[in-house]
Amino acid sequence: IHKTLKVDLKLKNKLDEKTYNFFKIISEVALKLKMKAYAVGGMVRDLVMDMPIKDIDIVIEGNAIIFAKEFANIIEGKLIAHNEFKTASVIKDGEKIDFATARQEYYDEVSSGLPHVEESSLKLDLYRRDFTINTLAISLNESFGELIDYFGGMKDIKDKKIRILHNLSFIEDPTRVLRALRFAEKFNFLLGQQTEKLMKNALDLGVLNTVSKNRLFLELNLILKEEKVVEILGRINDYKIFKYLHKEFYIDESCFALIESAKDFVKMCTFFCPVTFKIEAIYFSILKFCFRKKFNLISVLGIIDDKMEKIYQQMLQINVFLSKKRKKSEVYFFLKPMPLEAQIAAFSITRSSFVKDALISHIRDLQSTKPFISGKDLIVLGLKPSTAFGKILSDCFERQIEGDFANKQEAIDYVKNKYLN
Ligand code: ATP
Repeated sequence: IHKTLKVDLKLKNKLDEKTYNFFKIISEVALKLKMKAYAVGGMVRDLVMDMPIKDIDIVIEGNAIIFAKEFANIIEGKLIAHNEFKTASVIKDGEKIDFATARQEYYDEVSSGLPHVEESSLKLDLYRRDFTINTLAISLNESFGELIDYFGGMKDIKDKKIRILHNLSFIEDPTRVLRALRFAEKFNFLLGQQTEKLMKNALDLGVLNTVSKNRLFLELNLILKEEKVVEILGRINDYKIFKYLHKEFYIDESCFALIESAKDFVKMCTFFCPVTFKIEAIYFSILKFCFRKKFNLISVLGIIDDKMEKIYQQMLQINVFLSKKRKKSEVYFFLKPMPLEAQIAAFSITRSSFVKDALISHIRDLQSTKPFISGKDLIVLGLKPSTAFGKILSDCFERQIEGDFANKQEAIDYVKNKYLN
């Protein structure tokens, strides 16, 4: 199984020009520093699957920090080194390239029979990874562009299978249970038969309760960020995985309906508001809301992330506030400082069409509303700058939000009538 399979990837056709040039420079640095460099991980997997690639991960046989420093110098990028992990990132024009020193430790329990003395450190590094599909590498050395497949990753991609690398994989790192289902749904793959069996065994042994809560939460976040969030959570439900964390942690139909509704609304919002937001915080608030009468999701997951809790609380506040009849300007000034995540979550959990309408119109129209008049306009009208300006401007803006003016001229007429006589 551990045969090296080398395939020429024709990198030049597959990569965009910038990434290809980065690879060429990395290759030159490797030659100069007498180290070996390989592109690895999700990027290689996505590349062979003809999917858009995201981050670039490079493994160095040698010293990744020295390597990254040299690379950063050449491309005039910013270097961030993490000495304790022997890793470094180089950032250039918003793009990040991660360098890691190949890890060399081996798992004693499972290494029996493997001639690990002769192994390259790349191979040992890849052996520590979660699934075969994530163990592919591309050589950036003499055999530039060659695909390295030590553990049958290409075959599993072809067979559409998620497979672990060794029998203790889920015991060693139980977050891989969540990762397996995330990748399976994301790529429309199945779990390998043995992998599925070992996953169930590990779950029955209670491994999920042994993993650090923070890591569990991070993996849940990755799931909530996926386009196929509903399908992945569905798969997690099929295996009753969350029940290992709390006996009532099972996502029912009504909760799925709320998540679906959020998903649709998010689409509309991304269309109307060109702002970025954390989609995982929206789904997290909805999940917490669904389970609020049964248990506290935050304590089940042991979350130390206050921001998530805050968005949840703001979502509730929005619903309480909007459930009473309010003036348009009151709604505007209440919602304006609220994060979009809380507004979208509030939209999703309410049954009231009144609350829904208020949120839609706020996000669609008012988020971008600019005041018709400014201090300059008041000066042009002959008013002397003073503390009264603030009061006049906020009065005008409030009238504008209420719909009293349709344009700037009407706002100016209002100022003339009220403040200039
Ligand atoms: P994507 O970002 O598309 O979800 P990815 O493969 O880049 O996919 P990451 O979570 O960013 O996913 O992980 C990067 C790489 O690190 C993976 O390809 C995998 O090989 C390795 N990895 C991450 N988590 C684990 C883990 N728990 N056990 C073993 N290897 C892991």
